[in-house]
Amino acid sequence: MAFTFKGGIHPDYNKDRTYASPIEELPATEEVIIPLSQHIGVPCSPTVSVGDYVRIGQIIGDSDAGLSCPVHASVSGKVKAIAPHWHPSGVKVQSIVIENDFKDERNDSIVPYEGDLDDLTPSEIIGYARDAGIVGMGGAAFPLHAKLKTAFDKKIEVIIINGAECEPFITADHRAMVEYPRSIVNGAKLIMKCLGKKEAVIAIEDNKPDAIASMTITAEDSGIRICPLKTKYPQGGEKQLIKAITGREVPPGKLPMDIGCAVFNVDTCASLFRAVSKGRPLTKRVCTVSGSAVINPKNLLVRVGTPYYALFEHCGGFSSEPYKIISGGPMMGSAQHSVEIPVIKNTSALLAFCGGEESFDEKPTCLHCGKCISVCPMRLMPNYIYMHAEKEEFAECKKLNVQDCIECGCCSYVCPGRLYLVQAMRMAKGHLPK
Ligand code: SF4
Ligand code: SF4
Repeated sequence: MAFTFKGGIHPDYNKDRTYASPIEELPATEEVIIPLSQHIGVPCSPTVSVGDYVRIGQIIGDSDAGLSCPVHASVSGKVKAIAPHWHPSGVKVQSIVIENDFKDERNDSIVPYEGDLDDLTPSEIIGYARDAGIVGMGGAAFPLHAKLKTAFDKKIEVIIINGAECEPFITADHRAMVEYPRSIVNGAKLIMKCLGKKEAVIAIEDNKPDAIASMTITAEDSGIRICPLKTKYPQGGEKQLIKAITGREVPPGKLPMDIGCAVFNVDTCASLFRAVSKGRPLTKRVCTVSGSAVINPKNLLVRVGTPYYALFEHCGGFSSEPYKIISGGPMMGSAQHSVEIPVIKNTSALLAFCGGEESFDEKPTCLHCGKCISVCPMRLMPNYIYMHAEKEEFAECKKLNVQDCIECGCCSYVCPGRLYLVQAMRMAKGHLPK
């Protein structure tokens, strides 16, 4: 039986163009641009200077703050600049530009752990996660070491490994589950070991039968159960996953850990395993390059800091000038204004679309149809929140629990009046009274 949650939508998934495309490694570019902030929390400060020679895996930015994690060089070569550069979030962020010498010199810090993984202590596993700069790779970019530490302190009961990948177009996690299931399972086992649990659940939507099969075989006798989920957007949202798998609801204003659950992305698990078993920090990730304007969509293994244009060029370029470029999925991703912006640790996809595919209304009008309410997975009333947000009545928005909006975009997707509902939710969330 496949599990699910209330609400949600069934958009065109458009995963077929990369569904069966094996992950290909993108050749390194002449330079990489590595932002000092690629995570939720305090940005790093540079630990290198212009002119320094750096090696792959070397820490080039770090911070003492608890909610932060280091960034590493993804190529070897000379530090060319340390300056603000456009970031996928839409603002300029202090970044380190490295001129690649194409020698792929590895830093001495890349040392595999030779012992038995079962002998590692929770604090050692948390230390590996921090030193490797691992963040939540499904999109949130929350530092893994901080999440593990909180989960350990809170003595969580349920570990969920998120392989839902419900956003249209994206197949990066799907291919990872098909091509390197062992790394994912071993990473999940490290998390179980760290949190003192003997069981975990890997949740996968049922539109990925090959991933379900490969994970099921690999996870045999590991204490990890594979849970097929109904294909429905946003099934991969943490709160929706928890509801589907455990029946528990995260109350308004609370977090999954408040009800004993912790959710980790599949690729985050694989990165943790590589950090321990190979000593490798997070300097590469899988990124789906797709969309109607991309000639030859692919799943690429990309070095962090690679500019978008290199990914698009490797995929044959554009069939026509793209009307819109998005980092992430079409529902929750963010529009990008330049192809010079670099891939960062949570760039799961890069999409480019031709013009004429979006429908607008010059005068968006609410038709009071209630569709937005019926699809909202957080059981909010987007139409009423919109109405109050338009009048800047943010206290009213708060009373309607706008702070629980996960910005999934389901309401906007179904709205026949073409109201900018998600934008209104975001705006209201940014103006909430204390
Ligand atoms: S879906 Fe759009 S038109 Fe219908 S009630 Fe909601 S806001 Fe109004
Ligand atoms: S109100 Fe928020 S959570 Fe609800 S459907 Fe809209 S974007 Fe999603």
